[in-house]
Amino acid sequence: MKKECIVIKLGTGVLTQKSGAGLDPIALLQITATIIDLKQRDKDVILVSSGAVGTALSEFGITERPTEITELQSLAAVGQARLMHAYHAQLSPYGYHAAQILLTYSDLESSDRQERILRTLKALLKREKVIPIINENDTVAVEELRFGDNDALSSKIAIACGASKLVLLTTVDGLLTSKAEGQTLIEEVTNLEEARKHITTETGTFSVGGMASKLEAAALASAAGIETYITHGKHCADLWDKIYGTNRRRTRVNVH
Ligand code: GLU
Repeated sequence: MKKECIVIKLGTGVLTQKSGAGLDPIALLQITATIIDLKQRDKDVILVSSGAVGTALSEFGITERPTEITELQSLAAVGQARLMHAYHAQLSPYGYHAAQILLTYSDLESSDRQERILRTLKALLKREKVIPIINENDTVAVEELRFGDNDALSSKIAIACGASKLVLLTTVDGLLTSKAEGQTLIEEVTNLEEARKHITTETGTFSVGGMASKLEAAALASAAGIETYITHGKHCADLWDKIYGTNRRRTRVNVH
């Protein structure tokens, strides 16, 4: 029987430390434990991971995100290597392998290339202990064709590979009501228009996505029949319970 496939998207905010001190070792540890837990429960796991630019910013001591695209692309080239090294360091003691896949928007627009990507993913997942880790290929993606912080990329990947679940990890428990309404967690979104009213435009210092892009990406996947969640990535040790059990400290986006 075909295994259930879960796509997990990790943003820059989840993977890096607030202080600008680079990758967050505690977050990485929890994420690794979570991935291995899911694998041991016989799930296929695909990661969509940002963090390349953020990692390089810290490495070079840059405190403000540059706006120039070539500068960002060159930072991503440095950071991507660091990022994959960190995943490898986390996964290899348990016998797991990190597999890097870099994609652009146009790769998924072309049916021929999408087919090849899916075949590669399938081949990787056939190997019991391989974790495909996808990021945007920032070196070649130009501004108007960028996925940004990979929220849209993760939902497109989840749809293309027939995933049953998409989990967007962020630095809050999920979608919160607006400040005026007390910023309480919305456990389930069934009305997208209503949910959009709670969104502010804030993102982290190094992050680019924000809740707006997460909600839209989640809605896209949910409309395609994928069970979709937005939840905390810094505290993801109980992810299983949030997506299979009774823990409702997450937002389930359920719009059709
Ligand atoms: N793919 C990029 C990364 O991994 C997206 C985030 C950005 O533009 O800062 O860092």
